[in-house]
Amino acid sequence: MPRVALDSETGQKVLIRDWVMHYMEKTPLCLVCNEEMYTRGNSSPGVTTHFSHYTGTKCPIVGGRRKLYDNLQPIEKDMENAKKIQSFLLSNLWPLYKKCKDMFEDLTTKDYKEMIEKASKRNIWFYKGMEEKYLPYVLLVNYGIFEKNKFHKEKTYFVFDSKLSNYDDLWIRNGKVKQKIWKVTPNLHNLEEIEIDFDNSEYAPYYFLPWVTGLKDLPDLCKW
Ligand SMILES: [Zn+2]
Repeated sequence: MPRVALDSETGQKVLIRDWVMHYMEKTPLCLVCNEEMYTRGNSSPGVTTHFSHYTGTKCPIVGGRRKLYDNLQPIEKDMENAKKIQSFLLSNLWPLYKKCKDMFEDLTTKDYKEMIEKASKRNIWFYKGMEEKYLPYVLLVNYGIFEKNKFHKEKTYFVFDSKLSNYDDLWIRNGKVKQKIWKVTPNLHNLEEIEIDFDNSEYAPYYFLPWVTGLKDLPDLCKW
């Protein structure tokens, strides 16, 4: 699917157009799952040349495999932390939207509203030990597929490291799971790597809204 792969010997990123010219005897590895891939389409007219995973791959960038995110739920619910995360969201509704939009420029406010609804449905707030900085990334991945429409130029979705088995791997196993998110536009064979930003200085602290308003019981504000 992607148009970029790693050279298995040097670990260098190589674009497909350079690969077919100079690297054909080497083995391309996927940036997300590190599995071996092969090149496809270089002899078929009408097919954009790209790298492809072998059948049976577990890579989340591959079509149906991203469904693994659809059933993720917190194993243990952390009510205290959920209040904090929700309060952080409410205190930062707009900057969090802007952060998501930095990663997906076609994101509309309606998409964002749906992202929050979906996160509520899947109890995203209740993950034990969830850290605020992960919220925009989890919201984007958890949403699923942004279908191509008049607002979205291309079908797009976001995935985390293929080693991730639940969202909390990001903050519990953060030495083992890559602190990255990938933006996938499958019809363009595009894969964009985005580092998770650990700088929280653009956000208000989670207690900002309750402090300013004097509201203590935030969940009363909405249907969470
Ligand atoms: Zn892969």
